[in-house]
Amino acid sequence: MRGYFTNDAVVVATESRTSSPVRIPRDAESLQHPQIKNLYPCGEGAGYAGGIVSAAMDGERIANMIALKIL
Ligand SMILES: Cc1cc2nc3c(=O)[nH]c(=O)nc-3n(C[C@H](O)[C@H](O)[C@H](O)COP(=O)(O)OP(=O)(O)OC[C@H]3O[C@@H](n4cnc5c(N)ncnc54)[C@H](O)[C@@H]3O)c2cc1C
Repeated sequence: MRGYFTNDAVVVATESRTSSPVRIPRDAESLQHPQIKNLYPCGEGAGYAGGIVSAAMDGERIANMIALKIL
């Protein structure tokens, strides 16, 4: 790949990690786990994001929901 393949590179390899292949269930309205109250599955590990921006947006959504609940 032009600009990347160089003798100065420390490591040349493909990025092999992918986003989480599983998704923790989450109620579409409350954003909580359907069976575990006050558990808010969120972000990449829970299966609701695939990158930096989508993880941030999902976190913001959950934070807003929790703020609405406690404030
Ligand atoms: C090598 C690599 C390159 C990437 N490049 C890009 C890119 O170029 N563009 C892009 O959009 N995305 C990229 N991503 C994906 C992006 O980094 C993730 O999708 C995003 O960071 C997920 O955010 P998150 O908040 O869901 O999870 P994370 O950022 O993984 O945050 C989870 C947090 O929970 C903490 N934690 C874990 N267990 C516990 C515990 N038991 N108690 C307390 N805290 C705990 C961890 O320490 C961590 O801080 C890349 C990922 C990797 C691995």
